[in-house]
Amino acid sequence: MIRTVGVVGAGVMGSDVALDLACYGYEVVLKDISEDVLHQAMEKIKTDFRLLRLVKPQAKQLTVEDVLSRITFTTAYDDFARVQFVIENVTEEWELKKAVFTELSEVCGLQTTYAVNTSCISITKVGSLMPRPENVIGMHFMNPVPMKELVEVIRGEHTSDETVACGEEFLKSFDKVPVVVNDFPGFVTNRVLMLTINECVWTVQDGVAEPKDVDKIFRLGFGHKMGPLATCDLIGLDTILNSLLVLQDSYKDPKFRPCPLLVKMVDAGYLGKKSGKGFFDYSK
Ligand code: NAD
Repeated sequence: MIRTVGVVGAGVMGSDVALDLACYGYEVVLKDISEDVLHQAMEKIKTDFRLLRLVKPQAKQLTVEDVLSRITFTTAYDDFARVQFVIENVTEEWELKKAVFTELSEVCGLQTTYAVNTSCISITKVGSLMPRPENVIGMHFMNPVPMKELVEVIRGEHTSDETVACGEEFLKSFDKVPVVVNDFPGFVTNRVLMLTINECVWTVQDGVAEPKDVDKIFRLGFGHKMGPLATCDLIGLDTILNSLLVLQDSYKDPKFRPCPLLVKMVDAGYLGKKSGKGFFDYSK
């Protein structure tokens, strides 16, 4: 029975994963690298919870104090020895994830199950770092986590049937709908989504259309709730760039080469919603 969940990385995804779990009564240990980041995560959780209370039945019955009392904010791994399940959400960079999983293997119990929340990184490769690779599974959450039912669950080469079953049961306990797929870079969602977003950036760079019109075409023409460039801003331009680089490296296929405009925007610090500016302006 899972009661306490370790969440590593308190950025866009990790803070929302922690919030969602806390709304369903889980105890969460939320770890990041600095007090500053943890402070920002706490503020984000408070803001997101206020909005969530308006729409999500589980949140309506709670106060912000209830939610925060279920989350331990920490920069250390001390509390990870007692968690049964870990959800890792650090930056989409192999060397960072590798370092985190190596640290986790030293502090967590052998029975711990590990979920890798990644856009494109191989679950098999992460599993191979661990003493029990069969306990490692991919969980690609959708953003914003508390509002999205779908979780793309990735079975790595070593992932056991028990781990898949445990992962599915755990996700269902907080009203997620798991869809299990096999491990190939980008899985289904991001193999397709990253190409679409990147191609939309090319259309902006080539002067074919303004970002607002690119998105309008997808919303009105194809019935998408959100256009690809607004989606890019929501995910984070740095995460999109890192994902394209992982895909390009994995498939050795130039179709994944990042558009120079995307690279330039990341260099300029225009990371999307989290920085206040991306293809659209969020400063107000
Ligand atoms: P983010 O940049 O917002 O947050 C990453 C966090 O990881 C940062 O707060 C950073 O300080 C922290 N971190 C780095 N090294 C760490 C360490 N050693 N220990 C603890 N924390 C550490 O990124 P994000 O958007 O939250 O993405 C996290 C993961 O989720 C990525 O792998 C990404 O591909 C994946 N993902 C993102 C989205 C999205 O929409 N943003 C959607 C699905 C999956």
